[in-house]
Amino acid sequence: MYKRNLTVATAQKKGNHEGMRRKIVAGNWKMYKTVSEAKELAKALKVRLVNEVRKLDVVVIPPFTDLLAVAEILRDSGISWGAQNLYWEQKGAFTGEVSAEMIKSTGATYVIIGHSERRQYFAETDETVNRRLKAALAADLTPIVCIGETLPQRQAGHTLEVLETQLRAGLAGLNAEQLRRVVIAYEPVWAIGTGVNATPEQAQEAHQFIRQLIAQMAGDGCADEIRIQYGGSVKPENARSLLSLPDVDGALVGGASLEADSFAAIVKAAV
Ligand code: PEP
Repeated sequence: MYKRNLTVATAQKKGNHEGMRRKIVAGNWKMYKTVSEAKELAKALKVRLVNEVRKLDVVVIPPFTDLLAVAEILRDSGISWGAQNLYWEQKGAFTGEVSAEMIKSTGATYVIIGHSERRQYFAETDETVNRRLKAALAADLTPIVCIGETLPQRQAGHTLEVLETQLRAGLAGLNAEQLRRVVIAYEPVWAIGTGVNATPEQAQEAHQFIRQLIAQMAGDGCADEIRIQYGGSVKPENARSLLSLPDVDGALVGGASLEADSFAAIVKAAV
């Protein structure tokens, strides 16, 4: 059974699972950036991250309307791009929705699924997360599946239980080969956009728990390989302490990804 019981200090010294997993830092631009603003940001990142893209995966996740413009700039840069959501049907009369193939046709390779803002404002559930996830995998997109507890859930001592429910339902029906291709983002809802990040202890506890659960669901090999990002008020100032934790394989960054300097500084901290 997969188990690691290190203190955070020992674990930080020991490093990210002996360097087996390639780190991944993704910037979620949410509903920000017109096409011209998106182009400007993509150009600035391309210049700043020339060396880093060789050492870790860097992904930008703009609104749908910016994908093609960003693709033109980032093609051959080593920076990948993705979408913030998808619909599970392949095509049809689903006004306002975007399919996995449509996203892929922009050259995108990633898609966020089940972000807490979608769960909170757009009635996303673990069941719809699961349907979107299967559609993403079928189209060979790398899904970034977001899970995380609210503040009342944490205060009531239910954090691990909430994570388990979201993971078991969200990832239901996937085999180990499919699970390996998933990126999980642990994003405590109370830390998103608030400026209050999880402490390294809180983050490590949650990430270690998620990895142990993946081991139960799909075996130790899969648990060793699957990448788990932390998200929630990651900034250049706290990036190093969070990204050096043994079970933290990168970051999903919101606000700080909207400026080239701060996103580049986080990526550099991950290296
Ligand atoms: C997010 O949008 O996924 C996020 C983590 O936002 P922020 O970094 O602004 O907290």
